[in-house]
Amino acid sequence: MSEIAQSPTQKDHNTNASKFPELDRIYSLQKNNLQTLKNRSARERIKAIDRIRVYLSNEENQELLCKAMYQDFGKPTAEVRVTELVPTLSHITEIKRNLHRWMRNSSHPVPIQFIGLNAKSKFEPKGQALVIAPWNYPFFLSIYPALYAIAAGCSVILKPSELTPTTSAFIEKMFHELFEPAEVRVFQGEISITTAMLNKKWGHIFFTGSPAVGKIVMEAASKTLSSVSLELGGKSPCVLDESANVPKMVERLAWGKFVNAGQTCIAPDYVMVHESKRADFEKEIKRVIEKFYGEKPKQSEDLARIISTKHTQRLEELINESVTQGAKVIVGGKVDVESKYVSPTIVINVDSNMKLMQEEIFGPILPVIYYSSNDEVIQQINRLEKPLSMYILSSKRKNIEYFTNNTSAGGTLVNEFLLGAAIPSVPFGGVNNSGIGKAYSLHGFLEFSNERAVVKRSFMSIKFIYPPYSPRVQKIIGWLKRFS
Ligand code: NAD
Repeated sequence: MSEIAQSPTQKDHNTNASKFPELDRIYSLQKNNLQTLKNRSARERIKAIDRIRVYLSNEENQELLCKAMYQDFGKPTAEVRVTELVPTLSHITEIKRNLHRWMRNSSHPVPIQFIGLNAKSKFEPKGQALVIAPWNYPFFLSIYPALYAIAAGCSVILKPSELTPTTSAFIEKMFHELFEPAEVRVFQGEISITTAMLNKKWGHIFFTGSPAVGKIVMEAASKTLSSVSLELGGKSPCVLDESANVPKMVERLAWGKFVNAGQTCIAPDYVMVHESKRADFEKEIKRVIEKFYGEKPKQSEDLARIISTKHTQRLEELINESVTQGAKVIVGGKVDVESKYVSPTIVINVDSNMKLMQEEIFGPILPVIYYSSNDEVIQQINRLEKPLSMYILSSKRKNIEYFTNNTSAGGTLVNEFLLGAAIPSVPFGGVNNSGIGKAYSLHGFLEFSNERAVVKRSFMSIKFIYPPYSPRVQKIIGWLKRFS
Protein backbone atom coordinates (compact mmCIF):
# COMPACT_ATOMS: atom_id res chain seq x y z
CA MET A 1 0.00 0.00 0.00
CA SER A 2 1.17 3.52 -0.68
CA GLU A 3 3.09 5.62 1.80
CA ILE A 4 0.90 7.23 4.42
CA ALA A 5 1.25 10.96 5.00
CA GLN A 6 0.07 13.16 7.81
CA SER A 7 -3.53 14.20 7.59
CA PRO A 8 -4.12 17.87 6.74
CA THR A 9 -4.01 20.18 9.72
CA GLN A 10 -6.45 22.91 10.63
CA LYS A 11 -3.68 25.43 9.85
CA ASP A 12 -3.50 24.18 6.24
CA HIS A 13 -7.21 24.85 5.94
CA ASN A 14 -7.00 28.38 7.07
CA THR A 15 -3.96 29.60 5.14
CA ASN A 16 -5.46 28.53 1.82
CA ALA A 17 -2.04 28.94 0.20
CA SER A 18 -1.56 26.23 -2.36
CA LYS A 19 1.31 24.59 -4.17
CA PHE A 20 -1.13 23.51 -6.88
CA PRO A 21 -2.45 26.62 -8.66
CA GLU A 22 -3.99 24.57 -11.52
CA LEU A 23 -5.96 22.55 -8.97
CA ASP A 24 -7.17 25.79 -7.39
CA ARG A 25 -8.15 27.19 -10.79
CA ILE A 26 -10.16 24.10 -11.78
CA TYR A 27 -11.74 23.90 -8.34
CA SER A 28 -13.04 27.50 -8.71
CA LEU A 29 -14.10 26.89 -12.29
CA GLN A 30 -16.14 23.87 -11.22
CA LYS A 31 -17.59 25.73 -8.28
CA ASN A 32 -18.88 28.43 -10.62
CA ASN A 33 -20.39 25.81 -12.91
CA LEU A 34 -22.39 23.93 -10.27
CA GLN A 35 -25.75 25.54 -11.02
CA THR A 36 -25.43 24.69 -14.73
CA LEU A 37 -24.65 21.06 -13.90
CA LYS A 38 -27.50 20.95 -11.40
CA ASN A 39 -29.97 22.22 -14.01
CA ARG A 40 -29.06 19.48 -16.48
CA SER A 41 -31.85 17.08 -17.29
CA ALA A 42 -31.47 13.29 -17.06
CA ARG A 43 -31.16 13.25 -20.85
CA GLU A 44 -28.28 15.71 -20.85
CA ARG A 45 -26.46 13.85 -18.10
CA ILE A 46 -26.90 10.56 -19.96
CA LYS A 47 -25.60 12.17 -23.14
CA ALA A 48 -22.45 13.21 -21.28
CA ILE A 49 -21.98 9.71 -19.82
CA ASP A 50 -22.60 8.11 -23.18
CA ARG A 51 -19.55 9.88 -24.58
CA ILE A 52 -17.48 7.58 -22.34
CA ARG A 53 -19.29 4.51 -23.72
CA VAL A 54 -18.57 5.55 -27.29
CA TYR A 55 -14.92 6.23 -26.44
CA LEU A 56 -14.54 2.82 -24.81
CA SER A 57 -16.33 0.99 -27.59
CA ASN A 58 -13.62 2.09 -29.97
CA GLU A 59 -11.29 -0.90 -30.53
CA GLU A 60 -8.22 1.31 -30.73
CA ASN A 61 -8.94 2.87 -27.34
CA GLN A 62 -9.55 -0.59 -25.86
CA GLU A 63 -6.16 -1.72 -27.18
CA LEU A 64 -4.50 1.34 -25.66
CA LEU A 65 -6.10 0.64 -22.30
CA CYS A 66 -5.03 -3.03 -22.36
CA LYS A 67 -1.47 -2.04 -23.26
CA ALA A 68 -1.41 0.57 -20.49
CA MET A 69 -2.39 -1.97 -17.88
CA TYR A 70 0.04 -4.55 -19.21
CA GLN A 71 2.75 -1.94 -18.90
CA ASP A 72 1.70 -0.98 -15.37
CA PHE A 73 1.52 -4.46 -13.87
CA GLY A 74 1.40 -7.12 -16.58
CA LYS A 75 -2.37 -7.42 -16.33
CA PRO A 76 -3.53 -9.93 -18.97
CA THR A 77 -5.69 -8.43 -21.73
CA ALA A 78 -8.53 -10.88 -21.02
CA GLU A 79 -8.61 -9.71 -17.39
CA VAL A 80 -8.64 -6.04 -18.45
CA ARG A 81 -11.67 -6.74 -20.63
CA VAL A 82 -13.54 -8.81 -18.02
CA THR A 83 -12.72 -6.85 -14.87
CA GLU A 84 -12.30 -3.27 -16.08
CA LEU A 85 -14.08 -2.65 -19.38
CA VAL A 86 -17.16 -4.87 -19.03
CA PRO A 87 -18.10 -3.59 -15.54
CA THR A 88 -17.60 0.04 -16.61
CA LEU A 89 -19.88 -0.45 -19.60
CA SER A 90 -22.51 -2.25 -17.54
CA HIS A 91 -22.66 0.66 -15.07
CA ILE A 92 -23.16 3.04 -17.99
CA THR A 93 -26.07 0.86 -19.15
CA GLU A 94 -27.48 0.76 -15.60
CA ILE A 95 -27.40 4.56 -15.37
CA LYS A 96 -28.88 5.05 -18.84
CA ARG A 97 -31.74 2.69 -17.97
CA ASN A 98 -32.61 4.19 -14.61
CA LEU A 99 -31.49 7.81 -14.29
CA HIS A 100 -34.84 9.30 -15.34
CA ARG A 101 -36.54 7.29 -12.60
CA TRP A 102 -33.91 8.01 -9.93
CA MET A 103 -34.10 11.78 -10.57
CA ARG A 104 -37.88 11.90 -10.34
CA ASN A 105 -39.30 13.52 -7.18
CA SER A 106 -40.79 10.95 -4.85
CA SER A 107 -43.93 11.48 -2.74
CA HIS A 108 -44.35 10.49 0.89
CA PRO A 109 -47.58 9.67 2.72
CA VAL A 110 -48.72 12.38 5.19
CA PRO A 111 -50.51 11.48 8.49
CA ILE A 112 -54.19 12.45 8.63
CA GLN A 113 -53.69 15.15 11.29
CA PHE A 114 -51.52 17.07 8.80
CA ILE A 115 -54.09 17.07 6.05
CA GLY A 116 -53.38 19.80 3.50
CA LEU A 117 -49.64 19.10 3.42
CA ASN A 118 -47.87 17.54 0.48
CA ALA A 119 -44.46 15.88 1.15
CA LYS A 120 -41.91 15.16 -1.54
CA SER A 121 -38.23 14.32 -1.95
CA LYS A 122 -36.26 16.19 -4.54
CA PHE A 123 -32.81 14.92 -5.48
CA GLU A 124 -30.18 17.60 -5.90
CA PRO A 125 -26.45 17.12 -6.55
CA LYS A 126 -24.22 17.44 -3.49
CA GLY A 127 -22.00 19.74 -5.59
CA GLN A 128 -18.28 19.31 -6.09
CA ALA A 129 -17.20 15.67 -6.00
CA LEU A 130 -13.70 14.41 -5.30
CA VAL A 131 -12.96 10.84 -6.40
CA ILE A 132 -9.76 9.18 -5.14
CA ALA A 133 -8.96 5.79 -6.65
CA PRO A 134 -6.54 2.93 -5.87
CA TRP A 135 -4.23 1.06 -8.24
CA ASN A 136 -5.58 -2.48 -8.18
CA TYR A 137 -8.43 -2.04 -10.69
CA PRO A 138 -7.07 1.31 -11.76
CA PHE A 139 -9.52 1.99 -14.56
CA PHE A 140 -12.86 0.69 -13.27
CA LEU A 141 -12.41 2.05 -9.75
CA SER A 142 -11.60 5.51 -11.11
CA ILE A 143 -14.40 5.63 -13.65
CA TYR A 144 -17.46 4.12 -11.98
CA PRO A 145 -17.68 6.60 -9.07
CA ALA A 146 -17.22 9.44 -11.60
CA LEU A 147 -20.14 8.04 -13.63
CA TYR A 148 -22.48 8.21 -10.63
CA ALA A 149 -21.21 11.70 -9.73
CA ILE A 150 -21.98 12.93 -13.24
CA ALA A 151 -25.36 11.18 -13.13
CA ALA A 152 -26.18 13.00 -9.89
CA GLY A 153 -25.22 16.36 -11.45
CA CYS A 154 -21.93 16.93 -9.61
CA SER A 155 -18.67 18.27 -10.97
CA VAL A 156 -15.75 15.87 -10.57
CA ILE A 157 -12.09 16.09 -9.72
CA LEU A 158 -10.60 12.63 -10.07
CA LYS A 159 -7.28 11.49 -8.60
CA PRO A 160 -6.29 8.07 -9.98
CA SER A 161 -3.42 6.10 -8.47
CA GLU A 162 0.17 7.16 -8.95
CA LEU A 163 1.21 3.49 -8.98
CA THR A 164 -0.38 2.87 -12.38
CA PRO A 165 0.92 5.92 -14.31
CA THR A 166 0.15 4.62 -17.82
CA THR A 167 -3.46 3.77 -17.00
CA SER A 168 -3.85 7.07 -15.14
CA ALA A 169 -2.55 8.90 -18.25
CA PHE A 170 -5.17 7.06 -20.36
CA ILE A 171 -7.91 8.14 -17.93
CA GLU A 172 -6.68 11.73 -17.95
CA LYS A 173 -6.59 11.85 -21.75
CA MET A 174 -10.05 10.32 -22.04
CA PHE A 175 -11.70 12.84 -19.71
CA HIS A 176 -9.78 15.76 -21.20
CA GLU A 177 -11.05 14.81 -24.64
CA LEU A 178 -14.63 14.20 -23.57
CA PHE A 179 -15.40 16.78 -20.86
CA GLU A 180 -14.95 20.46 -20.14
CA PRO A 181 -12.68 21.27 -17.19
CA ALA A 182 -15.68 22.86 -15.48
CA GLU A 183 -17.34 19.38 -15.50
CA VAL A 184 -14.64 16.76 -14.93
CA ARG A 185 -10.88 17.04 -14.50
CA VAL A 186 -8.25 14.44 -13.72
CA PHE A 187 -5.20 15.29 -11.64
CA GLN A 188 -2.40 12.79 -11.38
CA GLY A 189 -0.04 12.85 -8.46
CA GLU A 190 0.93 11.49 -5.11
CA ILE A 191 0.15 12.25 -1.52
CA SER A 192 0.96 15.98 -1.67
CA ILE A 193 -1.69 16.79 -4.26
CA THR A 194 -4.22 14.48 -2.61
CA THR A 195 -3.58 16.26 0.67
CA ALA A 196 -4.14 19.63 -1.07
CA MET A 197 -7.40 18.25 -2.45
CA LEU A 198 -8.49 17.02 0.97
CA ASN A 199 -7.85 20.50 2.37
CA LYS A 200 -10.69 21.81 0.24
CA LYS A 201 -14.39 21.68 0.93
CA TRP A 202 -16.32 19.11 -1.10
CA GLY A 203 -19.93 18.26 -1.70
CA HIS A 204 -18.83 14.64 -1.51
CA ILE A 205 -15.60 12.65 -1.33
CA PHE A 206 -15.64 9.15 -2.77
CA PHE A 207 -12.52 7.30 -1.66
CA THR A 208 -11.50 3.77 -2.60
CA GLY A 209 -8.40 2.37 -0.92
CA SER A 210 -7.02 1.01 2.32
CA PRO A 211 -8.63 1.47 5.75
CA ALA A 212 -5.46 3.31 6.91
CA VAL A 213 -5.79 6.03 4.26
CA GLY A 214 -9.59 5.92 4.63
CA LYS A 215 -9.10 7.23 8.19
CA ILE A 216 -6.94 10.10 6.90
CA VAL A 217 -9.63 10.98 4.36
CA MET A 218 -12.39 10.91 6.97
CA GLU A 219 -10.38 13.02 9.39
CA ALA A 220 -9.73 15.62 6.68
CA ALA A 221 -13.40 15.56 5.63
CA SER A 222 -14.45 16.17 9.23
CA LYS A 223 -12.73 19.57 9.11
CA THR A 224 -15.00 20.80 6.30
CA LEU A 225 -17.91 18.43 7.02
CA SER A 226 -17.65 17.08 3.49
CA SER A 227 -19.61 13.84 3.26
CA VAL A 228 -17.69 10.66 2.44
CA SER A 229 -18.07 7.26 0.87
CA LEU A 230 -15.23 4.99 1.91
CA GLU A 231 -14.75 1.84 -0.13
CA LEU A 232 -12.09 -0.01 1.85
CA GLY A 233 -10.71 -3.52 2.23
CA GLY A 234 -9.79 -6.12 4.82
CA LYS A 235 -9.47 -9.86 5.25
CA SER A 236 -12.39 -11.44 3.40
CA PRO A 237 -12.85 -15.00 4.68
CA CYS A 238 -13.94 -18.11 2.81
CA VAL A 239 -15.45 -21.25 4.36
CA LEU A 240 -15.53 -24.60 2.59
CA ASP A 241 -17.72 -26.93 4.64
CA GLU A 242 -18.21 -30.70 4.84
CA SER A 243 -20.94 -30.65 2.16
CA ALA A 244 -19.04 -28.68 -0.50
CA ASN A 245 -18.31 -30.15 -3.90
CA VAL A 246 -14.54 -29.80 -3.62
CA PRO A 247 -13.36 -29.97 -7.28
CA LYS A 248 -15.96 -27.44 -8.42
CA MET A 249 -15.58 -25.07 -5.48
CA VAL A 250 -11.79 -25.13 -5.41
CA GLU A 251 -11.69 -24.17 -9.08
CA ARG A 252 -13.94 -21.17 -8.36
CA LEU A 253 -11.89 -20.28 -5.28
CA ALA A 254 -8.63 -20.35 -7.24
CA TRP A 255 -10.10 -18.01 -9.85
CA GLY A 256 -11.41 -15.61 -7.19
CA LYS A 257 -8.06 -15.61 -5.41
CA PHE A 258 -5.57 -15.48 -8.28
CA VAL A 259 -7.28 -13.17 -10.77
CA ASN A 260 -5.33 -9.87 -10.83
CA ALA A 261 -2.68 -11.84 -8.87
CA GLY A 262 -4.81 -11.66 -5.73
CA GLN A 263 -4.77 -7.83 -5.73
CA THR A 264 -8.54 -7.58 -5.41
CA CYS A 265 -10.30 -5.88 -2.51
CA ILE A 266 -12.90 -8.66 -2.39
CA ALA A 267 -10.47 -11.54 -3.03
CA PRO A 268 -10.90 -14.42 -0.58
CA ASP A 269 -8.05 -13.61 1.81
CA TYR A 270 -7.88 -16.98 3.58
CA VAL A 271 -9.91 -20.19 3.51
CA MET A 272 -11.27 -22.34 6.32
CA VAL A 273 -11.68 -25.94 5.17
CA HIS A 274 -13.61 -28.63 7.01
CA GLU A 275 -11.20 -31.25 8.36
CA SER A 276 -13.02 -34.01 6.44
CA LYS A 277 -12.09 -32.29 3.14
CA ARG A 278 -8.39 -31.78 3.89
CA ALA A 279 -6.97 -34.38 1.49
CA ASP A 280 -9.39 -33.53 -1.33
CA PHE A 281 -8.75 -29.81 -0.94
CA GLU A 282 -4.96 -30.13 -1.09
CA LYS A 283 -5.13 -32.43 -4.12
CA GLU A 284 -7.57 -30.18 -5.99
CA ILE A 285 -5.90 -26.84 -5.31
CA LYS A 286 -2.61 -28.19 -6.69
CA ARG A 287 -4.40 -29.53 -9.76
CA VAL A 288 -6.30 -26.31 -10.45
CA ILE A 289 -3.29 -24.01 -10.07
CA GLU A 290 -1.41 -26.15 -12.57
CA LYS A 291 -4.44 -26.19 -14.89
CA PHE A 292 -4.71 -22.37 -14.80
CA TYR A 293 -1.04 -21.37 -14.97
CA GLY A 294 0.89 -24.49 -16.04
CA GLU A 295 3.82 -26.17 -14.32
CA LYS A 296 5.79 -22.93 -14.45
CA PRO A 297 3.38 -20.12 -13.50
CA LYS A 298 6.15 -17.54 -13.95
CA GLN A 299 5.99 -18.17 -17.69
CA SER A 300 2.22 -17.88 -17.82
CA GLU A 301 0.85 -14.85 -19.67
CA ASP A 302 -2.33 -15.22 -17.65
CA LEU A 303 -0.95 -14.29 -14.23
CA ALA A 304 -0.58 -10.58 -13.46
CA ARG A 305 2.48 -9.19 -11.70
CA ILE A 306 2.58 -7.41 -8.34
CA ILE A 307 2.19 -3.65 -8.60
CA SER A 308 5.62 -2.63 -7.24
CA THR A 309 8.89 -3.93 -5.87
CA LYS A 310 7.88 -2.73 -2.40
CA HIS A 311 4.60 -4.64 -2.54
CA THR A 312 6.43 -7.77 -3.80
CA GLN A 313 8.88 -7.58 -0.90
CA ARG A 314 6.00 -7.25 1.55
CA LEU A 315 4.44 -10.45 0.19
CA GLU A 316 7.79 -12.26 0.34
CA GLU A 317 8.15 -11.22 3.97
CA LEU A 318 4.64 -12.46 4.77
CA ILE A 319 5.53 -15.92 3.42
CA ASN A 320 8.97 -16.05 5.05
CA GLU A 321 7.76 -14.82 8.43
CA SER A 322 4.94 -17.37 8.55
CA VAL A 323 7.31 -20.22 7.60
CA THR A 324 9.74 -19.15 10.33
CA GLN A 325 6.83 -19.29 12.77
CA GLY A 326 5.85 -22.85 11.76
CA ALA A 327 3.66 -22.50 8.65
CA LYS A 328 4.19 -24.81 5.67
CA VAL A 329 4.04 -23.89 1.98
CA ILE A 330 2.37 -26.74 0.06
CA VAL A 331 2.14 -25.01 -3.34
CA GLY A 332 4.30 -22.21 -4.81
CA GLY A 333 6.09 -19.91 -2.41
CA LYS A 334 8.35 -18.61 -5.18
CA VAL A 335 9.09 -14.88 -5.31
CA ASP A 336 11.22 -12.92 -7.75
CA VAL A 337 11.32 -9.36 -6.49
CA GLU A 338 13.05 -8.00 -9.57
CA SER A 339 10.31 -9.12 -11.94
CA LYS A 340 7.60 -8.45 -9.31
CA TYR A 341 6.51 -12.07 -9.46
CA VAL A 342 4.86 -14.08 -6.71
CA SER A 343 3.70 -17.58 -7.60
CA PRO A 344 0.23 -18.79 -6.58
CA THR A 345 0.99 -19.96 -3.06
CA ILE A 346 -0.90 -22.15 -0.58
CA VAL A 347 0.17 -22.04 3.08
CA ILE A 348 -1.04 -24.40 5.82
CA ASN A 349 -0.38 -24.58 9.60
CA VAL A 350 -1.02 -20.86 10.02
CA ASP A 351 -2.07 -19.15 13.23
CA SER A 352 -3.36 -15.79 14.39
CA ASN A 353 0.07 -14.56 15.56
CA MET A 354 1.36 -14.50 12.00
CA LYS A 355 1.14 -11.26 9.99
CA LEU A 356 -0.28 -13.44 7.22
CA MET A 357 -3.38 -13.87 9.39
CA GLN A 358 -3.51 -10.26 10.59
CA GLU A 359 -2.99 -8.03 7.53
CA GLU A 360 -4.99 -7.96 4.32
CA ILE A 361 -2.77 -10.11 2.04
CA PHE A 362 -3.55 -8.47 -1.31
CA GLY A 363 -1.49 -10.94 -3.33
CA PRO A 364 -1.60 -14.54 -4.63
CA ILE A 365 -1.06 -16.20 -1.24
CA LEU A 366 -3.83 -18.30 0.29
CA PRO A 367 -3.52 -19.40 3.93
CA VAL A 368 -5.61 -22.46 4.85
CA ILE A 369 -7.10 -23.20 8.27
CA TYR A 370 -8.66 -26.62 8.90
CA TYR A 371 -11.64 -26.68 11.27
CA SER A 372 -13.91 -29.27 12.86
CA SER A 373 -16.85 -27.29 14.26
CA ASN A 374 -18.93 -24.43 12.85
CA ASP A 375 -18.29 -22.44 16.03
CA GLU A 376 -14.57 -22.35 15.24
CA VAL A 377 -15.43 -20.69 11.93
CA ILE A 378 -17.56 -18.04 13.58
CA GLN A 379 -14.92 -17.33 16.23
CA GLN A 380 -12.19 -16.94 13.62
CA ILE A 381 -14.24 -14.55 11.46
CA ASN A 382 -15.48 -12.45 14.37
CA ARG A 383 -11.98 -12.17 15.86
CA LEU A 384 -11.05 -9.90 12.94
CA GLU A 385 -12.64 -6.66 11.66
CA LYS A 386 -15.89 -6.96 9.69
CA PRO A 387 -14.78 -7.92 6.17
CA LEU A 388 -15.73 -6.44 2.82
CA SER A 389 -16.84 -9.81 1.51
CA MET A 390 -17.44 -13.30 2.86
CA TYR A 391 -17.57 -16.54 0.86
CA ILE A 392 -19.44 -19.71 1.81
CA LEU A 393 -18.89 -22.92 -0.15
CA SER A 394 -21.60 -25.30 0.95
CA SER A 395 -24.67 -27.19 -0.15
CA LYS A 396 -26.16 -27.27 3.38
CA ARG A 397 -28.78 -24.57 3.86
CA LYS A 398 -28.45 -24.78 7.63
CA ASN A 399 -24.72 -24.09 7.48
CA ILE A 400 -25.10 -21.23 5.01
CA GLU A 401 -27.65 -19.57 7.32
CA TYR A 402 -25.57 -20.23 10.43
CA PHE A 403 -22.40 -18.71 8.94
CA THR A 404 -24.31 -15.72 7.56
CA ASN A 405 -26.43 -14.99 10.63
CA ASN A 406 -23.55 -15.16 13.10
CA THR A 407 -21.16 -12.83 11.27
CA SER A 408 -21.24 -9.45 9.51
CA ALA A 409 -19.72 -8.47 6.15
CA GLY A 410 -20.19 -5.88 3.43
CA GLY A 411 -21.46 -8.61 1.10
CA THR A 412 -21.64 -12.39 0.95
CA LEU A 413 -21.41 -14.88 -1.90
CA VAL A 414 -22.44 -18.50 -1.71
CA ASN A 415 -20.73 -20.99 -4.05
CA GLU A 416 -19.36 -18.18 -6.20
CA PHE A 417 -16.61 -15.54 -6.09
CA LEU A 418 -16.34 -11.82 -6.86
CA LEU A 419 -19.43 -11.72 -9.06
CA GLY A 420 -21.53 -9.86 -6.47
CA ALA A 421 -19.42 -6.84 -7.41
CA ALA A 422 -20.17 -7.44 -11.09
CA ILE A 423 -23.93 -6.98 -10.77
CA PRO A 424 -24.55 -3.24 -11.16
CA SER A 425 -27.91 -3.35 -9.35
CA VAL A 426 -26.55 -4.99 -6.16
CA PRO A 427 -25.36 -2.57 -3.42
CA PHE A 428 -21.58 -2.74 -3.12
CA GLY A 429 -19.52 -1.64 -0.14
CA GLY A 430 -18.16 -2.60 3.24
CA VAL A 431 -19.23 -2.20 6.83
CA ASN A 432 -17.25 -0.11 9.36
CA ASN A 433 -13.57 -1.04 8.89
CA SER A 434 -14.22 -2.34 5.38
CA GLY A 435 -16.20 0.71 4.30
CA ILE A 436 -18.81 3.35 4.85
CA GLY A 437 -21.63 3.89 2.35
CA LYS A 438 -22.78 1.72 -0.54
CA ALA A 439 -22.09 2.24 -4.20
CA TYR A 440 -23.62 1.05 -7.51
CA SER A 441 -26.94 1.81 -9.13
CA LEU A 442 -29.43 3.83 -7.05
CA HIS A 443 -27.00 3.65 -4.08
CA GLY A 444 -24.25 5.23 -6.18
CA PHE A 445 -26.62 7.99 -7.33
CA LEU A 446 -27.72 8.63 -3.73
CA GLU A 447 -24.15 8.88 -2.43
CA PHE A 448 -23.65 11.95 -4.63
CA SER A 449 -27.16 13.38 -4.08
CA ASN A 450 -28.85 15.33 -1.35
CA GLU A 451 -32.36 13.98 -0.89
CA ARG A 452 -34.06 17.26 -0.12
CA ALA A 453 -37.43 17.09 1.58
CA VAL A 454 -39.91 19.63 0.22
CA VAL A 455 -43.12 19.93 2.24
CA LYS A 456 -45.81 22.24 0.90
CA ARG A 457 -49.10 23.36 2.40
CA SER A 458 -51.95 23.53 -0.14
CA PHE A 459 -54.92 24.03 2.20
CA MET A 460 -55.91 24.08 5.92
CA SER A 461 -53.49 25.13 8.65
CA ILE A 462 -52.64 24.13 12.22
CA LYS A 463 -53.50 27.48 13.78
CA PHE A 464 -55.82 25.67 16.18
CA ILE A 465 -52.73 24.56 18.16
CA TYR A 466 -50.96 27.94 18.23
CA PRO A 467 -50.56 29.79 21.56
CA PRO A 468 -52.07 30.78 23.87
CA TYR A 469 -52.39 27.18 25.02
CA SER A 470 -55.91 27.41 26.36
CA PRO A 471 -57.68 24.31 27.74
CA ARG A 472 -59.38 23.97 24.30
CA VAL A 473 -56.01 23.97 22.48
CA GLN A 474 -54.66 21.42 24.93
CA LYS A 475 -57.67 19.22 24.29
CA ILE A 476 -56.99 19.38 20.52
CA ILE A 477 -53.33 18.50 21.13
CA GLY A 478 -54.64 15.51 23.12
CA TRP A 479 -56.68 14.37 20.07
CA LEU A 480 -53.65 14.83 17.81
CA LYS A 481 -51.70 12.52 20.11
CA ARG A 482 -54.37 9.86 19.58
CA PHE A 483 -53.84 10.00 15.80
CA SER A 484 -50.02 9.84 15.98
P1 NAD B 1 -4.21 3.32 -0.69
O1 NAD B 1 -5.16 3.58 0.42
O2 NAD B 1 -2.77 3.26 -0.39
O3 NAD B 1 -4.36 4.46 -1.83
C1 NAD B 1 -5.59 4.80 -2.40
C2 NAD B 1 -5.52 6.24 -2.92
O4 NAD B 1 -5.23 7.11 -1.85
C3 NAD B 1 -4.44 6.49 -3.98
O5 NAD B 1 -4.96 7.33 -4.99
C4 NAD B 1 -3.34 7.18 -3.22
O6 NAD B 1 -2.62 8.09 -4.00
C5 NAD B 1 -4.11 7.93 -2.15
N1 NAD B 1 -3.34 8.08 -0.91
C6 NAD B 1 -2.42 7.23 -0.39
N2 NAD B 1 -1.95 7.72 0.76
C7 NAD B 1 -2.58 8.89 0.98
C8 NAD B 1 -2.52 9.87 2.02
N3 NAD B 1 -1.73 9.74 3.06
N4 NAD B 1 -3.31 10.94 1.93
C9 NAD B 1 -4.14 11.09 0.89
N5 NAD B 1 -4.22 10.20 -0.12
C10 NAD B 1 -3.46 9.13 -0.08
O7 NAD B 1 -4.74 2.01 -1.37
P2 NAD B 1 -4.09 1.18 -2.54
O8 NAD B 1 -2.83 0.55 -2.06
O9 NAD B 1 -4.03 2.01 -3.77
O10 NAD B 1 -5.21 0.06 -2.77
C11 NAD B 1 -5.30 -1.09 -1.98
C12 NAD B 1 -6.35 -1.00 -0.91
O11 NAD B 1 -7.59 -0.56 -1.46
C13 NAD B 1 -6.67 -2.34 -0.29
O12 NAD B 1 -6.85 -2.19 1.10
C14 NAD B 1 -7.98 -2.77 -0.95
O13 NAD B 1 -8.73 -3.69 -0.22
C15 NAD B 1 -8.65 -1.45 -1.09
N6 NAD B 1 -9.64 -1.48 -2.17
C16 NAD B 1 -10.97 -1.39 -1.86
C17 NAD B 1 -11.91 -1.47 -2.87
C18 NAD B 1 -13.39 -1.37 -2.61
O14 NAD B 1 -14.14 -1.17 -3.56
N7 NAD B 1 -13.85 -1.50 -1.39
C19 NAD B 1 -11.49 -1.64 -4.18
C20 NAD B 1 -10.14 -1.73 -4.44
C21 NAD B 1 -9.21 -1.64 -3.43
